[in-house]
Amino acid sequence: MKLFGTNGVRGIANREMTADMAMALGKSLGTYMQRHNLGLRVTVGRDTRISGDMLKSAAIAGLLSTGREVTDAGVLPTPALQYYVRSHTDAGVMITASHNPREYNGLKIVAGDGTEFSRSGEAEVEDIYFSQQFHIAEWERTGSFSRDSTALKTYMDAIISLVDLDLIRNAGLTVVVDPGCGASCEVTPLLLRHLGCRVITLNAQPDGTFPGRAPEPTKDVLTDLMNTVKASGADLGVAHDGDADRVAFVDEMGEFLDEEDLLALMAEHVLRHKKGKVVTPVSSSLQIRDVTESMGGELIWTAVGSIDVARKMIDTGAVFGGEGNGGLIFPEFQYCRDGAMTAARMLEIVAGGRKLSELKSGLPVYYNIKIKIRCNNLDDVIQKVACALEEQEVDTTDGLKVWYPDGWILIRPSGTEPIIRIYAESKSPDRAEELIQYGSRLVEKCSNE
Ligand code: MG
Repeated sequence: MKLFGTNGVRGIANREMTADMAMALGKSLGTYMQRHNLGLRVTVGRDTRISGDMLKSAAIAGLLSTGREVTDAGVLPTPALQYYVRSHTDAGVMITASHNPREYNGLKIVAGDGTEFSRSGEAEVEDIYFSQQFHIAEWERTGSFSRDSTALKTYMDAIISLVDLDLIRNAGLTVVVDPGCGASCEVTPLLLRHLGCRVITLNAQPDGTFPGRAPEPTKDVLTDLMNTVKASGADLGVAHDGDADRVAFVDEMGEFLDEEDLLALMAEHVLRHKKGKVVTPVSSSLQIRDVTESMGGELIWTAVGSIDVARKMIDTGAVFGGEGNGGLIFPEFQYCRDGAMTAARMLEIVAGGRKLSELKSGLPVYYNIKIKIRCNNLDDVIQKVACALEEQEVDTTDGLKVWYPDGWILIRPSGTEPIIRIYAESKSPDRAEELIQYGSRLVEKCSNE
């Protein structure tokens, strides 16, 4: 059995993700830290989900039983917790199900340097969890507990210190912010106001029933934001997912900004100020490669997952990295996806004078298609697909990627579900369609063999 998915442990609260589990995970992490001499201090935080207090309290009790000293940082975005952990404690626990639907919750571990916990660390915590070989402290060594409500302010101050304050303030921007009743309610509206913007808010009251919209900020749930931007004549709309490590934008015409466009625009902006390497997963559009190369930078492809992107950025000293889902990483701040930091950088872009819709229309155009196929024996099928592709040059950074002169196709198994994802891209819509058909026929054939 596997506990940790791509992004921590997740499930429906009190059904798949219970207080017992959170307590055992707290004990497991405490035991792991004891074994590896990683220190005693752990910060715990949560997003606005209803079951957050229950799971947080259980995780804290588990940690205290192993002798850890726990600080409760309250309700805050995951990147704010990560920033706090890096400067104050030896590890962190975030109670969140990120962008998942309302009924879900989960638990995510943060390493002492504020980065996402490594996959090998997760595997060991998982082993401890299932073996139940917990380090249980003697009565006089059980842990202490305190609260610290300064994490949000420290986080916002740090972002403000990194952006071009004069440029943004002088632009007099109007921004509509939709935190979706999630963890960014107490952050992004305030931050943008500090940066001199006129801020209009939607769904900005913390509420774990998410009455305004679903926690994932996709185009189809952001209709209110798009309409409000248009009606108010704002320069920009900003929306976050439940734990605000991701962000989505709406341009001044009320149009949703495609996440691949966001990635390319941000790469261009960063490279304009600092030349260097840019890291993105193999599933990203060629837009970011074209933009990076035209700005004199170097693009590095990596496996899918923010932890892989962050790790590669550290190893290569990259100046920017990100995934095509609104999870962007700015190394001058921290090596994790950061929604509020991305929003602040976007203000710099728009403060430059050109409208977001104009900037978007200047980007290279590609057509990309993504599909998924249900499939039970993933490893087996992928192996057969690899054999069928033998004649071609296959890039195995993550899954199987084949480059053609006029496009590419990527076939990769999901890390969490019994599905195979197929991606295709080309400058020609017909060619993209042809590639995706080729890929899906190949996968279907290999799974029926
Ligand atoms: Mg998230």
